Amino acid sequence: MIQPVIAIHGGAGAMSRAAMSPEKEQEYLDALESILAAGQAVLAQGGSALDAVTEAVRLLEDCPLFNAGHGAVFTSAGTHELDAAIMDGATLRSGAIAGVHRVRNPVFAARKVMENSKHVFFVGEGAEAYAKEEGLELVDPSYFSTEARREQLLRVQRETPEAAVLDHDGQALVARGQPAPADPLDADKKFGTVGAVAVDAQGNLAAATSTGGITNKQVGRVGDAPLIGAGTYASNKTCAVSTTGTGEMFIRMVAAYDVAAQMEYCGATLEAAADRVVHEKLPTIGGKGGLVAVDAQGNVALPFNTEGMYRGYARVGEKPVTAIYR
Ligand code: ASP
Repeated sequence: MIQPVIAIHGGAGAMSRAAMSPEKEQEYLDALESILAAGQAVLAQGGSALDAVTEAVRLLEDCPLFNAGHGAVFTSAGTHELDAAIMDGATLRSGAIAGVHRVRNPVFAARKVMENSKHVFFVGEGAEAYAKEEGLELVDPSYFSTEARREQLLRVQRETPEAAVLDHDGQALVARGQPAPADPLDADKKFGTVGAVAVDAQGNLAAATSTGGITNKQVGRVGDAPLIGAGTYASNKTCAVSTTGTGEMFIRMVAAYDVAAQMEYCGATLEAAADRVVHEKLPTIGGKGGLVAVDAQGNVALPFNTEGMYRGYARVGEKPVTAIYR
């Protein structure tokens, strides 16, 4: 009998020493812990891995600290475009949506696509219309906006208008006496996707990922998060994976599926396969970020190649474990 476990991430990135107050750090750790506890409770009550990851990602979306749902980053046009995906490891069924700006919880829309549609991936207006048909809550786009994210956009546009947030040097701003980003990972060098992976008591695996993308991204740009195999993947045969980082590189490396493929074809352990993708393969094309993964035996891997990644895992019956830095 497997001891069910859930692992989550809230984005990876560089450390902002100037902004690293113990209170702020604790706020992030507390949020991670309570969200893990909620996912753990689903599993403890005999709930499915699918329900556990859906609940964890919903809570991460609703939490303004993380770049998904409420608190999502802005595009270069000052709008929001949200992406999400979910995958059921038992059946390989999956659902995804991209470029929505009115669906309150993108992970719910991805799940509806998986469960009720004959398709896998909806984008833009069609995705919004589908979510509406399915009775999901739609909100005014301003619901997603927070002051912190707007300032982040303005800062990036002022300092390096040609760059998306990934190249932005937040520490340089601090050195020039400008306001420091307000979270432990430098908001300007952080990849803020959220995600969850789990294995339940039946040995079923699931993964879900949700994101606002990257600050100052071009309108219409889609990252790895909603792409099955790139940012999200689950198969009972191998593992469940959710990624965060420079989406373009994760797409080019088919990062999430690579972990599963190494396990299936080469007999690699979860840890070895995940480490290889994050520490060996992604760096060859400048890919920065990390992933969370679980396998069918309940092993957990949380590798990242940045200075930090908001992360944690919780086994049923044990206290959740959370961390930000190495
Ligand atoms: N991977 C996400 C994307 O490229 C960004 C992130 O992880 O923050 O859209």
